[in-house]
Amino acid sequence: MSYRVFSRTGDRYLGNSNTREVHDLIHEDASPRACQIDEVIAAGYAVGFSPDTLDQAHVEGYDNCHYCIGELMR
Ligand SMILES: [Zn+2]
Repeated sequence: MSYRVFSRTGDRYLGNSNTREVHDLIHEDASPRACQIDEVIAAGYAVGFSPDTLDQAHVEGYDNCHYCIGELMR
């Protein structure tokens, strides 16, 4: 399942429910126009996944962020 989050929760994966992309916070790219995690959270689009795995994000319909994960599926 996925659920709304309103801050960095300490989980590894964070989704953007607007773009349907998932980010790997361990490899977050903080450059401008890359992951924009803080902007995603501020806009209210941040989601977490349970379990906190890339596979679960894919099951929920999220595709990989180009910057922090790569290997886009679509
Ligand atoms: Zn990213």
